[in-house]
Amino acid sequence: GREWHLVARPQGWPTADDFALREAPVSAPADGTVLVRNLHFSVDPYMRGRMNDVKSYTPPFQLDRPMEGGAVGEVVASAAEGVAVGDHVLHGLGWREYAEVDASAVVKVDPAVAPLSAYLGVLGMTGLTAYAGLLEVASFQPGDAVFVSGAAGAVGSQVGQIARLKGASRVIGSAGSDEKVRLLVEEYGFDAAFNYKNGPVAEQLREAAPDGIDVYFDNVGGEHLEAAISSLKVRGRVAICGMIAQYNATEPTPGPRNLALVIGKRLRLQGMLVGDHAALQPQFVEEVGGWLASGELKYAETAVEGIENGADAFLGLLRGENTGKMIVSLG
Ligand code: NDP
Repeated sequence: GREWHLVARPQGWPTADDFALREAPVSAPADGTVLVRNLHFSVDPYMRGRMNDVKSYTPPFQLDRPMEGGAVGEVVASAAEGVAVGDHVLHGLGWREYAEVDASAVVKVDPAVAPLSAYLGVLGMTGLTAYAGLLEVASFQPGDAVFVSGAAGAVGSQVGQIARLKGASRVIGSAGSDEKVRLLVEEYGFDAAFNYKNGPVAEQLREAAPDGIDVYFDNVGGEHLEAAISSLKVRGRVAICGMIAQYNATEPTPGPRNLALVIGKRLRLQGMLVGDHAALQPQFVEEVGGWLASGELKYAETAVEGIENGADAFLGLLRGENTGKMIVSLG
């Protein structure tokens, strides 16, 4: 089977030359493991961090080794109790056609409940990030005015909709194209949205939220965070989920110039990692599953077909070529 290797550590923006698709032998699963034919794998912004050789909350990818990440597939051989050939499973060995996975590291998923790719997005890691980040980290309360950046992406589109469904007084989103902005307002029920490429974020945010915001869900950092600090009301809360605007920076990026405002406004800025919120998983699946079934919550996926396009899908994600969750489908 083919698998993607990182072959050079990117400096700044990654390029296609940093990756190689290589052939690897597929053998019968060892005791306690299963062989999975991957049907979809996830490409995610956090993977950019794993391409750097630095200590972080996830270990760096090793050069000339297969990359890893969320994947769903079908068990084609099993040497483990409790997981059978034909089972569909979610696991952490994406970026490859065939994965030999420890049976203790797979979660069975049901393609009758939701399309398999949904377990990587709306019902998976990015969905839980949105749910936990808004409700637990940002301590969302009904009546809050919520601003989310990266709002047409996997996490952001769900944050805005959950806020609406939970009784936000106003939901504002920013995204990188006029088409994405239209989607936010017309399909996802945002009250206002703007294209951050069309003008200064602070100005556009003030226009979209003239009375200020109570919560900022940060996927972007940089200019967005600074603008949000200006628009936050007293005792406002910020969930710092991601800072994609600086993942390819080669120098340390300056902090918000207005940070001193956190004092007078008594703001709370809280970083988060989705892994800390696993206890919320059952509640998340039940509530979001219900909204999906009723049609109250919508989601998009950008599926790139073919393992040979895996690296391009990741590069495209960093450039905003996705609407909703970016998925690589192996057909
Ligand atoms: P998305 O689906 O949102 O895809 C990334 C999007 O980022 C692109 O589509 C692009 O949209 C936007 N983007 C890229 N560059 C910039 C920029 N310079 N300024 C503003 N927007 C930019 O990805 P995810 O939903 O998977 O992730 C969203 C964020 O959440 C990321 O920062 C990620 O690292 C973080 N995250 C954090 C987790 C945690 O546990 N802390 C878990 C999961 C995700 P556009 O066209 O709008 O520019």
